[in-house]
Amino acid sequence: MRFLIISDIHANHTALEAVLEAAKDRWDRAACLGDLVGYGPDPNEVVDRVRALGATVIRGNHDRAGSGLADAEDFNPVAKAAALWTREHLRPEVLSYLQELPPGPLSVDGITLIHGAVRDEDEYVLAPGQALASLLEMPSPISFFGHTHLQGGFSLLDNQLKVLQPAHQAGQTFSALQLDPQTRYFLNPGSVGQPRDGDARAAFAICDLDHHVVEYWRVPYDLHAVQERMALVGLHPSLIQRLALGR
Ligand code: ZN
Repeated sequence: MRFLIISDIHANHTALEAVLEAAKDRWDRAACLGDLVGYGPDPNEVVDRVRALGATVIRGNHDRAGSGLADAEDFNPVAKAAALWTREHLRPEVLSYLQELPPGPLSVDGITLIHGAVRDEDEYVLAPGQALASLLEMPSPISFFGHTHLQGGFSLLDNQLKVLQPAHQAGQTFSALQLDPQTRYFLNPGSVGQPRDGDARAAFAICDLDHHVVEYWRVPYDLHAVQERMALVGLHPSLIQRLALGR
């Protein structure tokens, strides 16, 4: 079984299309770790495309805020304005779809899908100390999380907790992580639509359970086209700029 793992698409349809083109014929089942909408200009198009994949999808905090399930009071002003813009522009059936998305953790075919952390879907897991609880409590030895928009993750073997940071070599499309059967893995595919690890390219992962390997991918996309659409609909300039910075 080969999983396509996507997360934090954030209404960036151009980045999503670039990811699907790069991943073509390389996966059997798709999984999405939440935040389909928020920040970007294409919420309806992104939801339609993910639904057409037949993907297993869990919700993120921006899916709750964008669909009105949460009030976005804990968002910063720029994120809140984007959530309210999203709410106004969602087609009614897309809004209902987002409201009905299940929370993680959700286990599917040997892996577990999580937006933030095992205990709290809204927790940002950035440091090893924060990852430990999820590594110990996750229901399967290989789990995927999003929310931080940072590609990589954490592994745990015999009380040794390691930070995993994919090293992308020039000219290579992905960086491979060989999975050890005794080790527990809490892995982040990175963000499709708003990377924050300094690499502006769209991020995703492919997990091949039969061959015990996770591939961390980065693909370029036409981010200027997305920035133009964002400006056209009046999304905040800081959201437009950060796409090019990958921050
Ligand atoms: Zn997000």
